[in-house]
Amino acid sequence: MKMLEVRGLGHTYRGKDGTHTAIDGLEFTVDPGELVCVVGPSGCGKSTLLRTISGLIKPTRGSVSLHGNPVDGVPSDLSVVFQDYSRSLFPWLSVTKNVEFPLRKLTRRNRTTRAAEALAAVGLDGAGRKYPWQLSGGMQQRVAIARALAYRPSLLLMDEPFASVDAQTRFELEDLLLRVRREQDTTVLLVTHDIDESVYLGDRVLVLSKSPATVVADLDVPLGQH
Ligand code: ADP
Ligand code: ADP
Repeated sequence: MKMLEVRGLGHTYRGKDGTHTAIDGLEFTVDPGELVCVVGPSGCGKSTLLRTISGLIKPTRGSVSLHGNPVDGVPSDLSVVFQDYSRSLFPWLSVTKNVEFPLRKLTRRNRTTRAAEALAAVGLDGAGRKYPWQLSGGMQQRVAIARALAYRPSLLLMDEPFASVDAQTRFELEDLLLRVRREQDTTVLLVTHDIDESVYLGDRVLVLSKSPATVVADLDVPLGQH
């Protein structure tokens, strides 16, 4: 069974200035355990694609299925990591509370264990009592990644997750992602405008055309770095 199936997916935004077709007839699938990078020029519709997969917008054409179930509304087995870490963490909650936030339905004990494991996985064991503002940008993005992983999503969606951190931190976070996805066998769909990054990280790279985006290439990365 495919983890993700995107069929004939298209989206046209309608506003008072008229309509804008962001994506048009996207077609691809993702197998369980794959790390697929989606690369394309800025403005080609990458975020629109992630918004339709995560149920935040309803596509105007085509369909998205997770484990064979059509996406209708926000699926519960997804996590999303955005580029803008400064807006993704709750400033009034400690690091641990931020990571525990999506785990409200678990027992307190399971919540604590999961959050501790996720923070350890991203190298932040000691930082649980701190608040986001006490951490560097790279560390805040680590917390956002830990929160996404603690949830143990079937599919992790990442929208330019390393674009706002400095180069050194970016390298560290990229390697962290490669290590953690192996350990946890997580399926990842990562959007980037950086072709180098897509080839470094991905088992597969989907290349989108400029807007309205279609898939112009679907490349296996042979003997990737990982
Ligand atoms: P990318 O993530 O590749 O930069 P986006 O998905 O953000 O691309 O945007 C694709 C196109 O759709 C762009 O031309 C953008 O201006 C347009 N767009 C994005 N969001 C909206 C919106 N809410 N209303 C109208 N147009 C939008
Ligand atoms: P080494 O030879 O010591 O492994 P590299 O120059 O291959 O050093 O990589 C150093 C760091 O740069 C790696 O940890 C990796 O995260 C990052 N890196 C290497 N190549 C790329 C690339 N094409 N895109 C993004 N990051 C890269």
